[in-house]
Amino acid sequence: MDTIVELSVKETLKKVFGFDNFRGSQEEIINNIMDGNNTFVIMPTGAGKSLCYQLPAITKEGTAIVISPLIALMKNQVDQMNAFGINARFLNSTLSKSESNKVKKSTLAGETKLLYVAPESLTKEENVAFLQQANISFAAIDEAHCISEWGHDFRPEYRRIKSILAQLGDIPMIALTATATPKVQLDIQKNLDMENARLFQSSFNRDNLYYEVKPKQQAKKHLIKFIKDHRGQSGIVYCLSRKKVEEIANFLQVNDINAAPYHAGMEAKDRIKNQDAFLNEDTDVIVATIAFGMGIDKPDVRFVVHYDVPKSIEGYYQETGRAGRDSINSNCLMFYSYNDILKLEKFNKDKAVSERENAKFLLDEMASYAESSVCRRKQLLHYFGEEWPEENCNMCDNCRHPREKFDGESMALLAIEVVVETKERFDINHLGEVLAGEHSQHVKSYNHDKLEVFGKGNDHTELYWKSVIRQTLLAEFIEKDIDIPGVFKVTEKGKKFLTDPYSVEFTKDHEFEIEGHEEEFETESINTQAYDKVLFDILKALRKTVARKKGLPPYVIFSDPSMEEMATVYPMTNDDLKKIIGVGESKARKFGKDFIDLIQKYVEENDISTFSDVLIKTAGIKSKNKIFIISQIDRKIDFEEIAEGKSMTYEQLVEEVEHICFGGTKLDIDYYINQLMDDDRQGDIADYFMSAETDSLEVALDELDEDYSEDEIRLMRVKFMSEHAH
Ligand code: ADP
Ligand code: MG
Repeated sequence: MDTIVELSVKETLKKVFGFDNFRGSQEEIINNIMDGNNTFVIMPTGAGKSLCYQLPAITKEGTAIVISPLIALMKNQVDQMNAFGINARFLNSTLSKSESNKVKKSTLAGETKLLYVAPESLTKEENVAFLQQANISFAAIDEAHCISEWGHDFRPEYRRIKSILAQLGDIPMIALTATATPKVQLDIQKNLDMENARLFQSSFNRDNLYYEVKPKQQAKKHLIKFIKDHRGQSGIVYCLSRKKVEEIANFLQVNDINAAPYHAGMEAKDRIKNQDAFLNEDTDVIVATIAFGMGIDKPDVRFVVHYDVPKSIEGYYQETGRAGRDSINSNCLMFYSYNDILKLEKFNKDKAVSERENAKFLLDEMASYAESSVCRRKQLLHYFGEEWPEENCNMCDNCRHPREKFDGESMALLAIEVVVETKERFDINHLGEVLAGEHSQHVKSYNHDKLEVFGKGNDHTELYWKSVIRQTLLAEFIEKDIDIPGVFKVTEKGKKFLTDPYSVEFTKDHEFEIEGHEEEFETESINTQAYDKVLFDILKALRKTVARKKGLPPYVIFSDPSMEEMATVYPMTNDDLKKIIGVGESKARKFGKDFIDLIQKYVEENDISTFSDVLIKTAGIKSKNKIFIISQIDRKIDFEEIAEGKSMTYEQLVEEVEHICFGGTKLDIDYYINQLMDDDRQGDIADYFMSAETDSLEVALDELDEDYSEDEIRLMRVKFMSEHAH
């Protein structure tokens, strides 16, 4: 070890770690520690924080204590150090008495260079007594955001670190974190009593990451399309619950994507197997809860998808940060629905009041990030206390597809005024209500309906004003109160703006639907708003021609919903076509060719990237009833009896039969109809359908003579569709 002490830090870097150069400010940081100064390091994940304490630890006399919350990773880190030939050890609850005695002995003998300690072990009295006897060079507090309740990973034991370290004498400290909003940063420094520390903060900008937020509608379908567009690349899909992880992993597998699940509820051996498969590229996509990723260093993760909305921007930033560590462009996609925010709020219900409020503010920030149409990079960096110049970053959805802009001068003035008039003591919801002129209980209880600014913005909604207030924050006319969560104060810039206003550019927010579509529907019904209207019209014209040739009404060929789906997913083969709603085997065979040819030509001419490989397969959810009913009808069982066999009403059975028929299956129900009606009656209804414009039941009831019952019409419609349409 003596020889190392004489080497320069640069030489040690090469000799021990095998690296040629320091990254970013590593060298400066190391020198600062070597000089015995308190040091505070804020660097994004993957930047190389560990080296900042590892290298001085081996160079300095004595033992460095490393406090880290991740017991699970401690052993890995120690193994890694040992592999470099460094004497590192750990002290935590997983050690037996004799093992920890060994560690202590080696430390007291001055052999251990790095001693990793879990915070709960640090606070044990016997350990404090031991550390007092040891020669400690400095203490490193890794993942220091765990000190702060304002972060996303608060650990109460972290709050006691300083008082314990104080008992060990005056030892220098280095705190390291990848998440530090100004508030968390202040909290860490205060709590560790290291306000004098030299701060090293590198930019949080990850310029190779593309940020994108999509409404959570048909999310499964979009997910498959997205992953298939990145075929063969590594990616992580984050979900909030274990159940969701299982469901999505299974869903991806069914759709021929090489995916595996990962969550804390799995058996350790399965979890490790899946993680290794991902690292070794035997698995392309890992579907995981946030339990996955910490300490994992896979450089070529090409995409990170948040299938569910994350709980905080800190979390979102950390998780997206796992993409593109090799500096190659990578994608970060989040599916957003306000429902997810509401769900998360519900989870927080059982928490203590202050914790719940914190969690709520973090969620509010998340929602506002998602809904905002301001540059995502600008918002993220602002959140971490960094400024991003006005220019277009060109690497986020909002910059690539800018939304409508408006001059925000008068709006920003009102936003500042409402902050001033309410004495810089209220949160965004309250301010929005006051501006919009809501006579809510809350507003009235503060007499804020008497303020001059009350209702000055009543031509807009509270939601609109909240967006304005957020943009006023981004413009730095107001700032977050660092001590009181959610509260805004006016900045110097804002005060100047009040007296001498000027034009500022604001952007209209996205209007994500408050009621996100339930995902269960997504795989079954195609979003009909999104279909290609041009193609739909062409298909309709073709349908007419074909219908005329065959002497059938057009709706018999393909229904409108079928064609809307075709104009959404562009089926180009017979197999694709069969997956379209309302199209069965025989229908595809009978009428499909012309349509497929047309779609192929259309796709080619218009250079469309098709959705057809995205046709969703849902694993075995075909109703048992369907098979049962079809087989009963094949055996010519009376409807009443079939219904009884499944404990349904006759009505329900007819509905199911219609469902099966309109879903594309041919049903021969003559045996039953013949019992109910004679040929003439049947003929009349069939004639009607042959000449009708539509298969609508209401229209048929209207048009047909009153002595045909609804039941008869419905059954005949099934017979007619089965004979002609399938
Ligand atoms: P952080 O803790 O900041 O997330 P780590 O300390 O885990 O990051 O380092 C991330 C990766 O960068 C590690 O694989 C590490 O070996 C590597 N690394 C750190 N410093 C250097 C350097 N100067 N040159 C090359 N690689 C480095
Ligand atoms: Mg680290």
